[in-house]
Amino acid sequence: MHFKVELPNWVIEESEKLPEIMPTLESQMEAVIRFSRINFQKETGGPFAAGIFEKETGKRVVIGVNRVVPGNNSTAHAEIVTIGMAQAILETFDLGGPGMPNYRLVVNARPCAMCFGSIPWSGVRSLAFAAAGEEVEKITGFDEGPIHPQWQQELEARNIEVIENVMAVEAYEVFREFAASDSPIYNGRSGESS
Ligand SMILES: [Zn+2]
Repeated sequence: MHFKVELPNWVIEESEKLPEIMPTLESQMEAVIRFSRINFQKETGGPFAAGIFEKETGKRVVIGVNRVVPGNNSTAHAEIVTIGMAQAILETFDLGGPGMPNYRLVVNARPCAMCFGSIPWSGVRSLAFAAAGEEVEKITGFDEGPIHPQWQQELEARNIEVIENVMAVEAYEVFREFAASDSPIYNGRSGESS
């Protein structure tokens, strides 16, 4: 037995149009936000995307998207998918391993409780995100879970830089479009409790 997560073909096609080096955080986030919009519009997942880039050079490793509904996998959030893809491409479970460049995770929204936990495990040295979690919950209805109240300090205490509010206005636009669509809100426990 196994389970796997696949990126849709459009992600591969759109990624091939991007430069290999995306030197500014804004250019990285612009692409991530664009992918988050295409993902729900094409019904290939929720309105979330993430990228892994070399922090110093902006070299792109991969941009991935949320795959919860099409993958029948509640853990297939954009961060988890993208970290897993990057680790498969780079053939390591630790993106912070000896001799490796510093890697940055770029996400269109604050990580949820699960994805927050995945960040120290991944080995990335930096996190940049756009939209704030509470706002995303308010706009979309997703339950992002009980993230640690001092989560940014907890990452920084582990030498993981946190950069917030990058192109947040553009990210919120996607969430509003998502909320206005009839796309599924895939929270757990949607059935009646007994
Ligand atoms: Zn998550």
